[in-house]
Amino acid sequence: MNAFTHKPEAATPAPLVDPYGRAVSYVRVSVTDRCDFRCVYCMAEHMTFLPRKDLLTLEELGRLCSAFVARGAKKLRITGGEPLMRHDVMKLFRALSRHLVSGRLEELTLTTNGSQLARFAEELVDCGVRRINVSLDTLDERRFKALTRTGDHARVLTGIDAALKAGLSVKLNAVALKGVNEEEFVPLVRFAHERGMDMTFIEVMPLGEVDGPARVDQYLPMTSVRETLGAAFTLTEIDYRTGGPARYMRAEETGGRVGFITPMTHNFCESCNRVRVTCTGTLYMCLGQEDAADLRGPLRESADDALLHAAIEAAILRKPKGHDFIIDRATQAPSVSRHMSMTGG
Ligand code: SAM
Ligand code: SF4
Repeated sequence: MNAFTHKPEAATPAPLVDPYGRAVSYVRVSVTDRCDFRCVYCMAEHMTFLPRKDLLTLEELGRLCSAFVARGAKKLRITGGEPLMRHDVMKLFRALSRHLVSGRLEELTLTTNGSQLARFAEELVDCGVRRINVSLDTLDERRFKALTRTGDHARVLTGIDAALKAGLSVKLNAVALKGVNEEEFVPLVRFAHERGMDMTFIEVMPLGEVDGPARVDQYLPMTSVRETLGAAFTLTEIDYRTGGPARYMRAEETGGRVGFITPMTHNFCESCNRVRVTCTGTLYMCLGQEDAADLRGPLRESADDALLHAAIEAAILRKPKGHDFIIDRATQAPSVSRHMSMTGG
């Protein structure tokens, strides 16, 4: 038996429920901290990445994900860094697809910058992936270069087309950045809806030291995004949910959906069903808190999953009620010192 086919315990362990009664049904797994882009709000220009030896192997990541599935996780999101830059990452998707086949897992999904999608879209579909998130902050090639520093806009657009052609449902995500992409909110919605994609906007979060503009100068509240979109579209509240934190509205003129993720202005913690695991096996019970639990130790200590389950259980009992994000002029340091590329989006 290899690690990919490692079986969960025979008796199904109890589902994971935190002290506030929230069931943990959604796990986001960052499979690498590396990326081919250096987005200004996410990374410093010269990032120091983790030594490769610190990373969990794909087999270990598969085992870790499977332990969460055994404990009731219904949705797995593979993220990063750029997940499709991890060597042989399709082996992980292939291994996890067995949980879709068994019906224990409801959704296996991905957040990507799109640069490698043309290469992998069909294989993702073959592994049971049905919906993906692609980050696209701008339709303007020059602005894209300024924002991502190293990104190739045309390549991302080709990747999005390939994903649609392969039959994937695509949701575009844009971080709303004051004075940067404000004038593009309406065109981004049109672009997405013309191609049958949802369009979601995200408030910038104070994660990690970045060079370039201060957070307070980047930050744009979602109320402002809604106001801009409301002038161009008739937005109607809808009940649609995807298990994540986005709230959706329908633009009546296009019939498409617009999502809003508001970690800063609207505290969505009361319904939080998520935890995050980094590529080194560190479990973060909350994106906006420093508290974490090491799962790599228990993973490596024994081939049996008992230690791993015990570590996960103990950690979930420490899941905090909510995050402590602050962006204001008085608060210069990031609320959380790690970068978004560590814990993934
Ligand atoms: N590389 C992939 C991508 O860009 O989609 C996946 C990882 S990336 C860290 C996930 C998401 O986090 C992206 O949509 C990105 O725009 C967003 N993100 C990164 N840093 C952020 C920040 N400080 N505040 C809000 N969103 C951020
Ligand atoms: Fe890379 Fe995604 Fe971070 Fe941009 S947001 S630097 S694409 S990990």
